[in-house]
Amino acid sequence: MKENLTFSSANSSDRTSVLEHTRNIGIAAHIDAGKTTCTERVLFYSGVVHKIGEVHEGSATTDWMEQERERGITITSAAISCGWTTSEGPFAGVPHRINIIDTPGHVDFTAEVERSLRVLDGAVGVFTSVEGVQPQSETVWRQMDKYNVPRLGFINKMDRMGSDFLTAVQTMRDKLGANAHPLYLAIGAEDNFKGLIDLVKMVSYIYDPSDQSGVRFSTEDIPPDMVEEADEYRESLIEAIADFDDEIASKYLEGEDISSDELKLGIRKATLSIKFVGVIPGSAFKNKGVQMLMDAVVDYLPSPLDLPPMKGEDSNEMEVEVSPNDSAQVAGLAFKLMSDPYVGKLVFYRVYQGTLKKGSTLYNPRTRKTERVSRLMVMKADTREDIDTAYSGDICALIGVKDVATGDTLADKSLDLRLEPPSFPEPVISMSIEPATKADQERMSIGLQRLAEEDPTFGLSTNEETGQTIISGMGELHLEIIRDRLFREFKVEANAGKPQIAYRETMLGSSEGEGKFIRQSGGRGQYGHAVIKLEPLEKGKGIELENKIVGGSIPKEFIKPTFDGIKEASLGGVVAGYPVIDFKITLVDGSFHDVDSSEMAFKMAGIFAFKDAMQKANPILLEPIMKVEVSTPDEYQGELMGDLNRRRGQIQGMETRGKVCVLQAFVPLENMFGYSTDMRSLSSGRADYSMTPSHFEQVPQSLVKLIVETSSREPARS
Ligand code: GDP
Repeated sequence: MKENLTFSSANSSDRTSVLEHTRNIGIAAHIDAGKTTCTERVLFYSGVVHKIGEVHEGSATTDWMEQERERGITITSAAISCGWTTSEGPFAGVPHRINIIDTPGHVDFTAEVERSLRVLDGAVGVFTSVEGVQPQSETVWRQMDKYNVPRLGFINKMDRMGSDFLTAVQTMRDKLGANAHPLYLAIGAEDNFKGLIDLVKMVSYIYDPSDQSGVRFSTEDIPPDMVEEADEYRESLIEAIADFDDEIASKYLEGEDISSDELKLGIRKATLSIKFVGVIPGSAFKNKGVQMLMDAVVDYLPSPLDLPPMKGEDSNEMEVEVSPNDSAQVAGLAFKLMSDPYVGKLVFYRVYQGTLKKGSTLYNPRTRKTERVSRLMVMKADTREDIDTAYSGDICALIGVKDVATGDTLADKSLDLRLEPPSFPEPVISMSIEPATKADQERMSIGLQRLAEEDPTFGLSTNEETGQTIISGMGELHLEIIRDRLFREFKVEANAGKPQIAYRETMLGSSEGEGKFIRQSGGRGQYGHAVIKLEPLEKGKGIELENKIVGGSIPKEFIKPTFDGIKEASLGGVVAGYPVIDFKITLVDGSFHDVDSSEMAFKMAGIFAFKDAMQKANPILLEPIMKVEVSTPDEYQGELMGDLNRRRGQIQGMETRGKVCVLQAFVPLENMFGYSTDMRSLSSGRADYSMTPSHFEQVPQSLVKLIVETSSREPARS
């Protein structure tokens, strides 16, 4: 039924058709749900690798970083290309190119998830058939909601004890609020998981038990004892699709037949609307269900042509749109940097518009530099292939571009374009770091700098009072990995201090602030003067700057320096010197002097204006709140709940899954240090927990003074 075909060359002359048949997808999952194993199988069935690699043997192709092999988790997102051709359905017989952007499962690496979500067009959420939706998969799912990513669900590990496909689908509905419907049913479970029922075609696929690789399976009638169930689920699938497709709706109401192809197109429409998620059961490890998943990727996930244009702005902050069109000037986003031992710095790049040729130049509006792309490549598992041209919609790796950071726009200079970079969450934890031997100081700085360029949630700063280097990130594991990479890649052994909470500041009210920097005594003076309005923004909105200067009270060339001053001042707030977040500044007035005004003077005016406004706006301190999920046998529930309360936790819910009781709570990170030891001793080692950063909340007034006095300050990432 399905063969391993190579995809049509990226240099094909019929580009529209190549684009239509490209799928840029991500695979997202809770750690250990089987994302790496799924990716491996996809590469195997598509013919990119010829031998099945196992994660537990440390040979998985995508897990190429040394530490990942050791930890058995995927940290970096590698972009890998493979091909797939369906034998039936609307795209039957047409080779498709699938670019897989590997998204990490551990929430400590949210930056990786965010940046990959920005450049992929569709995604597969992998869940396990035993646990269903787990907290981290919930986090990733919500991020995908934010980026409007059409999705499929793959319920993995059907071979495991206690597996239950339909209950797992139900957890997608309950926990994720997803309109999830099976596209296939599982035949059997655990050791007896034999194959799948196709609810579109109403046949079953039974895997050949003598073929461990899962390449061979036969198409058969639906087992008699499952006919009724299959009818029922097909009916509810059609009913769900009828909401998105009028023709299917009217045929359904009239009781007419709906062909497989019609239904597939309907499922595609529904999936692209983001309001429907088709779900497939399988076992990546036992090589079942993966081919059906690949068919579904081709049939239902979007091509670059299906998506709305990407938004950006020009240097006057006017909105600009780019869309896949090969004859337009080239524009794209650098979404990942990687050091490669053979070719140096690899810049993973998504082309949003135009055609990029090897040897051409790209402009980076952040650095204001133009750089030459000396080589272009596509990655295929652990091999790479040189190409001459990359087209809109493609994902490729650039070599030769040196001064670049994750999230940078690289485009034709004449476009004067900056694409919306992905937004990244605030770090929640920080620690001081110093080299074990003084002589390594410089090498450590270079290494940390390099790592910060690659990872936007990893922050680097200096404590001005103590001169210490401070690193900040999304969790202890995140910072531990940074230290590990420092050691492996830069040969610097570093000692880290105690983890500290990364507090933030914001304000409750609005205010107006004024800043003047005027020095006019003899010789050339200084003159900068700015008046700003400061208002709080909703949580997570970041920083917005608006220029409402009219009549030239501040000349155009001094606007940016004023904003630069404001941004710099916002790195250390007025409550306790922590970075200020979620606010809007409107530059409303100011004045200048023909001779004495300078960029520097306006930058200082910006700094003073911000501090002034912040003082008047009822400033507050914010702390990171973690979402904590504890699973425990019933009898320890009371003790554990009391303990969470003592930690200023707000219990959100409690449910029973089998014999296990699951507690959910929001707890300030400050009170989570040492939790794992306490939790284990309260439950005789039988409870377990997971935690993910959730949001920032105001620190109760009674604690602010203590925090201000005792915490070592961590000036923000810039
Ligand atoms: P990731 O952390 O999501 O990338 O998960 P991995 O692919 O690394 O898988 C985690 C563990 O689960 C590994 O030991 C895999 O061998 C195992 N695993 C993956 N898929 C399956 C499956 O379908 N069935 C079973 N029983 N184990 C699986």
